[in-house]
Amino acid sequence: MIVISSPIKMFKICKKMRLERKKIGFVPTMGALHEGHISLIKEARRENDIVVVSIFVNPIQFGPKEDLKRYPCPINKDSLLCKKEGVDFIFHPDGNLMYPEGFRTRVVVEGISDILCGKYRPGHFKGVATVVLKLFNIVNPDVAYFGQKDAQQAAIIKRMALDLNIRVKIKTMPIVREKTGLALSSRNIYLNGQEKADALVLFQSLNLAKSLINKGIRDADKIINIMRQLIQKKDTAQIDYIAIVDIDSLEHIKKITGNCLIVLAVWIGKTRLIDNILI
Ligand code: AMP
Repeated sequence: MIVISSPIKMFKICKKMRLERKKIGFVPTMGALHEGHISLIKEARRENDIVVVSIFVNPIQFGPKEDLKRYPCPINKDSLLCKKEGVDFIFHPDGNLMYPEGFRTRVVVEGISDILCGKYRPGHFKGVATVVLKLFNIVNPDVAYFGQKDAQQAAIIKRMALDLNIRVKIKTMPIVREKTGLALSSRNIYLNGQEKADALVLFQSLNLAKSLINKGIRDADKIINIMRQLIQKKDTAQIDYIAIVDIDSLEHIKKITGNCLIVLAVWIGKTRLIDNILI
């Protein structure tokens, strides 16, 4: 496994691989790898000749009051995990190499970037789309792997790839959870014991919604209210949003008639957690 920090070097290596007709699988991450990331890497390993994992804490997707400074960055541990999974290349660029002085471009996927998490994290998805397009241009992967955990991010990247004629297949992998149901996240390390216990209410509320739908309740607002009541019982919890939306467009659904996505973002203490369930 080789760790590469230069975008130009990474680009050249990937170009050579493509000329050799190697199929390249790409897993973009911000590091602090856990089993959720590993599930993407394993799938990439299974389906491709070459696996590239990027580890880059992308500064332009963090708001001024967000956790950029304290975001975990255990690169040595991450490298060992990648090596164990048979990763060929880690792309670990420096911020200055990705955003040199004079950098001015942003990629905006209109509409779906301003709703849900985008409403509470202005500019976040602009930062995400920009870095992912840059990474796609550097690696030029055949397949890129994203987690359903960040459902809005996956929808935005799919839309961007389609709109901008990017030659890449986007594959979304299921959410990996702890046995307790808590969705794995690099941010879970911020939670203390009480908060970790309270955080289980996210998945519990999603399961409650699923059981209500199974019982025949179709009114989205009614389901959301019941979820809200359950979550609000936890002292440390503060809801940003709960929504029932269309899987692709992320538009709100009033009456559930078929497949949908239930998404939520909840602060547990000072940590913002997201989760979702496909119905
Ligand atoms: P991040 O490092 O948080 O930017 O995440 C990198 C990728 O891993 C994204 O595509 C995430 O959606 C995915 N991911 C993060 N957590 C999980 C999880 N619990 N299960 C599956 N995929 C995940």
